[in-house]
Amino acid sequence: MSATKYVYLFGNGKAEGNAEMKDLLGGKGANLAEMDLIGIPVPPGFTITTEACIAYTKYGTAKIKELLEDDVKAAMKHIEDIMQMQFGSNENPLLVSVRSGARASMPGMMDTILNLGLNDNSVQGLIKKTQNERFAWDSYRRFVQMYGDVVMGLKPENKEDLDPFEVIMDSLKKERGITSDLELTASDLKELVYLFKRAIKERTGKDFPDDPWEQLWGAIFAVFDSWNNPRAIFYRKLHNIPDDWGTAVNVQAMVFGNMGNNSATGVAFTRDAATGEHLFNGEYLINAQGEDVVAGIRTPLQITKIGSQRWAALAGISEEERVAKYPSLEEAMPEVYKQLFEIQKKLEEHAKDMQDLEFTIQEGRLWLLQTRTGKRTGFAMVKIAMDMVREGLIDEKTALLRMEPNKLDELLHPVFSQEGLAKAKEIAKGLPASPGAATGQIVFFAEDAEAWAAQGKKVILCRLETSPEDLRGMAVAQGILTARGGMTSHAAVVARGMGKCCVTGAGSIVIDYKNRTMTTRGKTYHEGDWISLNGSTGQVFEGKIETVAPELSGDFAELMQLADKYTRMYVRTNADTPQDATVARKFGARGIGLCRTEHMFFTGVRINAMREMILADNEEGRRKALDKLLPMQRSDFEGIFTAMDGFPVTIRLLDPPLHEFLPQEENQQKEIANALGITLEKVKERVNALHELNPMLGHRGCRVGNTYPEITEMQTRAIIEAALNVKAKGIKVIPEIMVPLVGIETEFKMQEDIIRNTAEKIFEEKGDRVEFLVGTMIEVPRATLVADKIAERAEFFSFGTNDLTQMTFGYSRDDVGVFLPIYLEKNILKNDPFQILDQEGVGQLVQIGTERGRKTRPNLKVGICGEHGGEPSSVEFCHRVGMDYVSCSPYRVPIARVAAAMAAIRK
Ligand code: PEP
Ligand code: MG
Repeated sequence: MSATKYVYLFGNGKAEGNAEMKDLLGGKGANLAEMDLIGIPVPPGFTITTEACIAYTKYGTAKIKELLEDDVKAAMKHIEDIMQMQFGSNENPLLVSVRSGARASMPGMMDTILNLGLNDNSVQGLIKKTQNERFAWDSYRRFVQMYGDVVMGLKPENKEDLDPFEVIMDSLKKERGITSDLELTASDLKELVYLFKRAIKERTGKDFPDDPWEQLWGAIFAVFDSWNNPRAIFYRKLHNIPDDWGTAVNVQAMVFGNMGNNSATGVAFTRDAATGEHLFNGEYLINAQGEDVVAGIRTPLQITKIGSQRWAALAGISEEERVAKYPSLEEAMPEVYKQLFEIQKKLEEHAKDMQDLEFTIQEGRLWLLQTRTGKRTGFAMVKIAMDMVREGLIDEKTALLRMEPNKLDELLHPVFSQEGLAKAKEIAKGLPASPGAATGQIVFFAEDAEAWAAQGKKVILCRLETSPEDLRGMAVAQGILTARGGMTSHAAVVARGMGKCCVTGAGSIVIDYKNRTMTTRGKTYHEGDWISLNGSTGQVFEGKIETVAPELSGDFAELMQLADKYTRMYVRTNADTPQDATVARKFGARGIGLCRTEHMFFTGVRINAMREMILADNEEGRRKALDKLLPMQRSDFEGIFTAMDGFPVTIRLLDPPLHEFLPQEENQQKEIANALGITLEKVKERVNALHELNPMLGHRGCRVGNTYPEITEMQTRAIIEAALNVKAKGIKVIPEIMVPLVGIETEFKMQEDIIRNTAEKIFEEKGDRVEFLVGTMIEVPRATLVADKIAERAEFFSFGTNDLTQMTFGYSRDDVGVFLPIYLEKNILKNDPFQILDQEGVGQLVQIGTERGRKTRPNLKVGICGEHGGEPSSVEFCHRVGMDYVSCSPYRVPIARVAAAMAAIRK
């Protein structure tokens, strides 16, 4: 016995745990306990805590067995007493399931064993008790198969190989001249048990354990071990789940969905996980065990009549055929269905969120095996939250806190255009498992998906069915297509979690992995061919289809209103063109937080004028070239001011090092030399003189503006003249001129003087004025430390956390990719600091800079315009340090708005 309580019982209506104990009992264990407490029928069992898993990782098998042994024995007795059965008995044997269950749900990533406790003795007991020899041997066969795979490690040797147990089973079926598993007789199944055990012995050198207790410990340790299998580790990385949480283990009395035609098993959602529609739905299989549903091997039936009718319509099946061959649970077992319907309602009302359930019907009796918060698409996330507010189930703040802001991305992305669809050729139809529009090249293996995506290709991962091993490939694919499986197959669940377009169970598709082809409706497609998927209708099309912007009304618009109601910070956008500014305004941006003027210099004839300026020998030559740039910049600014009518626009003066504007190739250098009437040598000399090595911290930012003040003059003139021009047209313009890369207050002052003097000159010339601000980027570490001095003159601060991260870590932004993946893998860094703000280090500088700046100027306007301005956890940080706004790329504006509101509510 140990002082720490590692084992928690449930199943007699008096569970020791409850829903609040997810950290300790895992999601599954905590929810089983909760269901038990509120009177929902769950098979009795016990949960071994996540702490035990952590102890196991530290101390190993022997020690942990010693710690747990007495409690596990007592807990098995608890199950035996309730079920009135005995573990290992040859009269009335108790069988158990052993399943993982972490704090955060990780569907399919870890291991499960069913029917544990069977051996040559107890199978006789099962036969006696059930009077069903076939069932007993089938259960035994399934157990040996699962245990052989999970605990003893008999797996396919190559990716193209089939599961070794399936190979044995297929060859027996061939011998018997049958095709379906259901045609295997009791003696066939008995033979399979023998053949499976023999294969395990041959391939692993180990005997299959007959002692039920040995089986139990093997399974418990295997589940602990599965916390650290590669797919679980990868899943945790993808979803930011800490490695040190560990998994709990749930041991539970088996109930059987495969005891004949009045038994069944299924999964259900209290609302539609793809669209969010308030409609109970799910799938079930008669005479089957749970893994048959999720594995996607047999295509399951719908639980509700309406779901079944919709499914039949998609599949082109008549109502008569549907009722005869594919009845819903509602029709096939109306009494059990009624009970299930009431239970799902109760569970959703209790949890106040959409639930994902697993159930089993054993000889007409309903058991719930699991409930958890259901994974959902971005669409469903928004709709369900807003519906629940309207239904009075949750309040507005809760609705906002339910958001995973990054998932809003899905709602902002293009859908297929009507014209594109009208021309498209449908080649298959499956189930609309996860919405969205995806176009890409066919690949058949997850590894290939990764390799192709790394080359910048767009791929659609096409599989018979997916397994957790395919996760990496799914993560990089545009969409996922499977030939088998239902709406709750692994592919569907995982794709929805990722917000990926997915079509499952496209039955007309025949995949040939060896030849890398896919045949449907008489035509064969090869690896690399283009196809398109509509995850909202289940359609598969040949070739590419053009996409258009989505509608942003309804629930999405209402959610955004809620965000604005509760937020304190507002959101601006980083935009350099009127088009981007317009998109961002539609997404709710209230101003531009960063307009990078250099982007305007790269296009068309401008680059020539820019190069002429750089290559000039003296100020006079530079001014001549700048005169050519002035009208172009001015008209750019007019466009942006017009698009942002009424909102502030922060325009940053030229920032990058000048060499970025010069060509590196000789023939282009020749062209410039000819155009400017200078020698090639002269061009080369300049290129060499300006060349900077990464991280390019030389002649850039305000250093250029202070060494060549005429550039700042020209840019100021373009800004102010543009402002006056649009003002004359009745547009409300609020320019903010921003100086980049300031580290010394004098650097700022010098730039400010140029800006203000130039502006005054223009006001005099034009006989009109406009209000404007002059502020600075804070992106050099020194600037954060002397922020009080800089704020004496600067009217606003905008944190450039891209450069601030680069300089604080001493990593070059441009070649961090060389070692960053290794740093992440080795856990030296938890996240890429260029994506997620390093609050511990860089964050301190942001805080210091804000505090010191506001000490001098209490109402100093402070914002952020680095990439972090659109990343939810960084936005929350910006709220905490008291920023006024965040600025991010147009498509991230809604994400930042919601993240900002969530931060305000949490505080
Ligand atoms: C920054 O450094 O964070 C920034 C916004 O500027 P840029 O990325 O253009 O250097
Ligand atoms: Mg910068």
